[in-house]
Amino acid sequence: MEFIKENCGIAGVFRHKDASEILYLSLFSLQHRGQESAGILLTDGSSVFFHRAQGLVSEIFTPEIIHSLKGNCGIGHVRYSTTGASNEKNIQPFSVEYKGKTLAIAHNGNLTNSRILRTKLEKQGSIFQTSMDSEIILHLLVRSKGSTIKEKLAHALRQLKGAFSILIFTENEIIAARDANGFRPLCIGKLDSSYVVASETCAFDLIGAQYFRDVEPGEMVIFSDNGIDSYQWAEKTKKAHCIFEFIYFARPDSYIFTKSVYLTRKNLGVNLARECDFDGDLVMPVPDSGSIAALGFAQEKKIPIEFGVIRNHYVGRTFIQPAQKIRDAGVRIKLNPVSAVVKGKDVIVVEDSIVRGTTCRNRINSLRTAGAKRIMLVISCPPIISPCYFGIDFPSTQELIASTKSIKQIKDFLGLDGLHYLSYKGMLDAMLIPGENFCTGCFTGKYPVKPDTMFNKYQWEKSHGCDS
Ligand code: SF4
Repeated sequence: MEFIKENCGIAGVFRHKDASEILYLSLFSLQHRGQESAGILLTDGSSVFFHRAQGLVSEIFTPEIIHSLKGNCGIGHVRYSTTGASNEKNIQPFSVEYKGKTLAIAHNGNLTNSRILRTKLEKQGSIFQTSMDSEIILHLLVRSKGSTIKEKLAHALRQLKGAFSILIFTENEIIAARDANGFRPLCIGKLDSSYVVASETCAFDLIGAQYFRDVEPGEMVIFSDNGIDSYQWAEKTKKAHCIFEFIYFARPDSYIFTKSVYLTRKNLGVNLARECDFDGDLVMPVPDSGSIAALGFAQEKKIPIEFGVIRNHYVGRTFIQPAQKIRDAGVRIKLNPVSAVVKGKDVIVVEDSIVRGTTCRNRINSLRTAGAKRIMLVISCPPIISPCYFGIDFPSTQELIASTKSIKQIKDFLGLDGLHYLSYKGMLDAMLIPGENFCTGCFTGKYPVKPDTMFNKYQWEKSHGCDS
């Protein structure tokens, strides 16, 4: 996998005495979902405390800062951001003062009608502080009809199109909500007598919480001193979970959409092995994201698995570095071939996906230099041919190698002896949920929610630095 902006990670806790530590550890577990900035916002019932900064969770939140964040309920966020000083304003949770109280949001996903909504709100007099979709949701919330937060939020959410898993903070409640299609994951856990919420269940493991249930698509769950209240704000519609969460984004030790990422990813490797007639001396993953599929592939093929490249764990995930020069350096130093393993061998390399192809080509080159005799590449998903409008920042269609080149051309471009992509059916069959519950838009160009005609993601993001 190469050079894709991650979507974000969110976490929340309601009425736990160790709230700041819980949010810190939750965000630490969700760091893979966004590595450029993080924030925590808490209340102790009388004051609101927050800290937001650019950097990794472990760098931002020193023991002194965690200690200074007082309170027993709050929300947190990790995110990717675009470059530029103005984006410091975009660090979440995003908060506003409304009627003397703090209102805040942590958001994962992309709205597809943000441009229309923002223009409409600006015409009505709204002044925006940031370029984030998330701020639109708060503007809609405070303008919405209704006498309760539940009614007002439901009214706001019904105006949104696209993908959102959100946490709303009021000084009395934490509200978790998902879009009607359920693009992005959002899970509820129980810790002692309190509730916690996180994008993935790996956060619960670290804090010792028990998985309780998912926030359902189109549902909002309100945590307050009256207990937990569920409200279906949207009519039930077709689910469209992001299948790419299983292929690449989510941690393999997580359950998302109620299913194990590890088992699903291994199934992808098994199906790949069944479809593909390549033979070799060894199977090797591109670590870490190709590792589980490689295990499934090697076991099914009964070919030994070896670590033909070693990952330097002290280099960040290259694709979320913002500058091209940094990214290129990251690719070269991140994975180093082991010539003792690959020299003179026919190797089958298992990778989770190919985006632009440039990083992949560099890796194949370095394996050749290390002495690999024949190199066959197998990909645990179908060719990516279309961008994503729902929170994963794939490059434009023209930059996606599979949208402009045939499989044979990609094989030649990468300098391979063989290339096999998992079929669309093989991908869906690997899922532990029926295939009709997934968004597969980046593989088919057919999206479950049609982006508004005014919405041109790439122009819009270029001019506004907008992501979430
Ligand atoms: S288009 Fe692809 S990456 Fe985007 S939500 Fe759908 S499956 Fe996920």
